[in-house]
Amino acid sequence: MIKNAHIHFNDLGTPVANDFDDVYFSNDDGLAESHYVFYQQNNIESRLQNHDREHFVIAETGFGTGLNFLNAWQQFYDHLQCPQVQSQQPNTVQRLHFISFEKYPLSVNDLRQALQAWPSLSHLSAQLVSHYPINLTGCHRLEFANGLVVLDLYFGDVLECINSMSYPQSGLVDAWFLDGFAPSKNPDMWQQSVFNAMVDISRSNATLATFTAAGFVRRGLIEAGFSMQKAKGFGRKREMLVGTLAQANSKQSAPAYFEHHFSPLTNVAVIGGGIASSCILYSLAKRGIPSHLFCQDKQPAMGASHNVQGAIYPHLQAKNSPHSELFAHSFLYAKRLYNQLLNNGFLFDHQWCGVLQHAVKKPLAERHQNLADKQLWPEQLMRNVTADEGDVIAGVKTGYSGVFFEQGGWVNPPQLVSAMLDAAQQLNEFESLFNCHIEQLNKQPDGWYLTTQKQTFGPFSDVIICAGEHSDAFAQTKTLPIVGVRGQVSHVQASTQSRKLKTVLCHKGYFTPAYLDHHCMGATFEKNSKSREVTEQDNHTNREQLLSFYSNTEFATSLGDISSAKAAVRCSFIDHLPMAGEWVEQTDYTHAFANLRLGKRYQYQALKKPQQGLHIFTGFGARALCSAPLSAEHLISSLNNEPRPLSERVSQAIHPGRFIVRDLIRNKI
Ligand code: SAM
Repeated sequence: MIKNAHIHFNDLGTPVANDFDDVYFSNDDGLAESHYVFYQQNNIESRLQNHDREHFVIAETGFGTGLNFLNAWQQFYDHLQCPQVQSQQPNTVQRLHFISFEKYPLSVNDLRQALQAWPSLSHLSAQLVSHYPINLTGCHRLEFANGLVVLDLYFGDVLECINSMSYPQSGLVDAWFLDGFAPSKNPDMWQQSVFNAMVDISRSNATLATFTAAGFVRRGLIEAGFSMQKAKGFGRKREMLVGTLAQANSKQSAPAYFEHHFSPLTNVAVIGGGIASSCILYSLAKRGIPSHLFCQDKQPAMGASHNVQGAIYPHLQAKNSPHSELFAHSFLYAKRLYNQLLNNGFLFDHQWCGVLQHAVKKPLAERHQNLADKQLWPEQLMRNVTADEGDVIAGVKTGYSGVFFEQGGWVNPPQLVSAMLDAAQQLNEFESLFNCHIEQLNKQPDGWYLTTQKQTFGPFSDVIICAGEHSDAFAQTKTLPIVGVRGQVSHVQASTQSRKLKTVLCHKGYFTPAYLDHHCMGATFEKNSKSREVTEQDNHTNREQLLSFYSNTEFATSLGDISSAKAAVRCSFIDHLPMAGEWVEQTDYTHAFANLRLGKRYQYQALKKPQQGLHIFTGFGARALCSAPLSAEHLISSLNNEPRPLSERVSQAIHPGRFIVRDLIRNKI
């Protein structure tokens, strides 16, 4: 688990790390030093005016107080005011991406106090403080200015973090701010393995600047591949180091069969109208990428996203699995996104009232005990509660112990989808076509064409299928191994007792606090049915299920009639993980990676990619509210050749090729 730094403030008000006995920034104008050493010596101002792509990536070792980030953001803000940038002239940078690694994060209170030293940055530091993440290992993607400034803040040791990242052969980073306490005080960070890892994620012509001029640092960086020079140090300091990497080292994090390829994304067709598709459209809109929405229903969120109240909380296991990592980070990202939409005036009904998972059966109680024993997750994410504590939280008497997700709650998914689509429209207008049933996808030399019974649309550079249980309806995708599970949620009239419920309850299903004087109660679980028909039998099952766990409680026994219900098919995969990536053609994979049948040490052939530009984004089951936003960011970041928010192991876990690769390795195909 990540531990906060122990710090104090010296007589001049500068923060000092107790364990390293070193300052976070210089006692003599730390902001000016940050600007000179890192920003100017990397020559960033002029590089933003003439760059080979629309985004510029800075990476930093040691986030500390975030001063370097805030200065870069402030400078970038000034850059955005330039007339050339405003008129979007070619080669000018439009978006700033800042990656920073931090092993011992400041507590949010220390961060707030430390940043009070810089009144000129207060408008930015207030935003940083309000987004500052909890102590969870891994990448926290924080977005500012509607995504024009992205901060990927990694909590963990810099070497471990870089080694966990998902990155392409061409690298990610344009400029390095090599910070960290003085090498003599923090030798662990100034190691050859760290310098080598920095090169792994650097692009050709990446630059580097560091305040130190230590000989072993210079030699280590040269050995890693940088050409190094001394430069004049800041203020009274005589020297510092700058460097350049001529050529990226062509290493990539994934084996060829789990690679994510870039795509043109010049004109993207998105098929589907639920949470998944609205997340994709929002991620595209932030980047100014033109898109079109095609939905077969008459309005958004008519499929699995149609519930009146959907619970949102992370599905965590008592082990640090790719599954738990995906859900923990996705949950935090989704919450930031939803709060940002609300702050920007895109409203939807919701309540951040927490989610209480009750130990209603022995296996659940054992799982909760296991979570308590392992202590893997920060308290702000989840905590075990006794029956008494749980009942106080819930406001009703149940007698069950459980696990409480205090940042969880419920949202109205159709309203959320509309809000997200409106927000995306405001960022970058796109055309939405409803009642539009796409039947065929055709790849032509000039791009993809989408055909209904009457019309053809296109060409599109890319097609992203987010059509839930209908995602396998196209000739190209009919082998998609989706598992459809029909679920019905009943809306039951609240009673005096049930209105006291203050949090979402999860048992085998879920039960929400009263909203419009009704509770959502569900859900049923029926495989091999694609029907959206509501049945009386399922309403009965939902009530019976609730009463089977809460027969002695006043809130459950006093409920009124069921006045309505909704049913839909949730689309998932056998491993309970979503799928995000370019479509994988089985014959292409079995040909290119045939040698996987022999083991992983053999040569592979190149992929032919007959369906290049076709992507799949579905399989979120009943958890899209939690997992779709970050997975959408990961897919669009990967396709657009940007830093990716999910780690390599999670990226592989949701890769469309995973089932084919597994079967090849097992010699089943
Ligand atoms: N750039 C920071 C700023 O703008 O405030 C100051 C950085 S401070 C001098 C050095 C930072 O490096 C500390 O926050 C420290 O916790 C972090 N650090 C030290 N060793 C580390 C490691 N192995 N991995 C990641 N971060 C590390």
